[in-house]
Amino acid sequence: QTRVLTGITTSGTPHLGNYVGAIRPAVASSLRADVEAFYFLADYHALIKVQDPARVQRSTLEIAATWLACGLAPEQVWFYRQSDVPEIAELNWLLTCVAGKGVLNRAHAYKASVDKNREAGEDDDAGISAGLFMYPVLMAADILLFNAHKVPVGRDQIQHIEMARDFAQRFNHLYGGAGNEHFVLPEAVIEEQVATLPGLDGRKMSKSYDNTIPLFCPRPELKKLIYSIVTDSLAPGQAKDADASNVFQLYQAFADASETASMRQAFADGIAWGEAKEALFERIDAEIAPLREKYESLMARPEEIEAILRDGAARLRDTLAAPRLAGLREAVGLRPLS
Ligand code: ATP
Repeated sequence: QTRVLTGITTSGTPHLGNYVGAIRPAVASSLRADVEAFYFLADYHALIKVQDPARVQRSTLEIAATWLACGLAPEQVWFYRQSDVPEIAELNWLLTCVAGKGVLNRAHAYKASVDKNREAGEDDDAGISAGLFMYPVLMAADILLFNAHKVPVGRDQIQHIEMARDFAQRFNHLYGGAGNEHFVLPEAVIEEQVATLPGLDGRKMSKSYDNTIPLFCPRPELKKLIYSIVTDSLAPGQAKDADASNVFQLYQAFADASETASMRQAFADGIAWGEAKEALFERIDAEIAPLREKYESLMARPEEIEAILRDGAARLRDTLAAPRLAGLREAVGLRPLS
């Protein structure tokens, strides 16, 4: 069985991009017999960006309910909240001690923040937490604790998987004798057919940009948000470039090949923006409506979600996390915990 791991940061309300890019493909692949699936709510990661405890808690509940509403079967996969598994945080430290600082200096997320500071004429590291700097190590711990083989990610995350491989190799080299490899080297899986959805403002749809269409917002709000997507001002009857259009990109992510081909033709024929948006709204709502109902019913029973998460983490710790960490502690020369 191949171990596949997917996490979503609990930094806000899950959106169409999370659904298309992570949840829909992950739930589909979890049904395959050759996959052992790990799904987690990345709440340690959320703390890097969000210092609002209520937001982190609400987001955790929303993302858990979303996974469940979208068909994840918690008894058939590993489904857990990251912070319920303290072994991850401990491995984070073991890896921190083998991770090269120079490697972390090159991480995109950190470099982007430094660049922003430079543009603003600030000190390089102004306002940048050590958490943001160390984020690739925590991500490596998420993956390596369970020896996940495959990690489906967007292109922007490939570098972090390479870093996880680097830290794993270093650890194996320092602490593994011949034939005693502690860590499997994980591979990034880029699903070429999975699009990166644009947000309302045309940038990547992202919880941190506040430009999202929440996956399960009520129908009237979904309609309103879709109508607010930024377009150019070409009039009805004027040919429109489907590939340059956010509306088309969203449509494509929800439509099958023949619907997409008809829409492409309609763009060439000069469909009015209002009509294109109406078609987009109807298409998305048709897929989402049944899931939205399940989501709302789950959100009305938060204690049930909580129980599922606790059970998931307890089972994971007993079966995998604790024994695994015990071996790693021993490898580096720490005493056994019990
Ligand atoms: P944050 O802003 O806190 O990073 P996010 O909304 O960008 O949040 P993540 O929680 O970092 O999303 O990512 C969870 C998963 O959703 C990842 O697999 C990521 O590739 C996918 N994802 C996020 N945004 C999009 C998008 N716009 N299009 C497609 N997939 C996306």
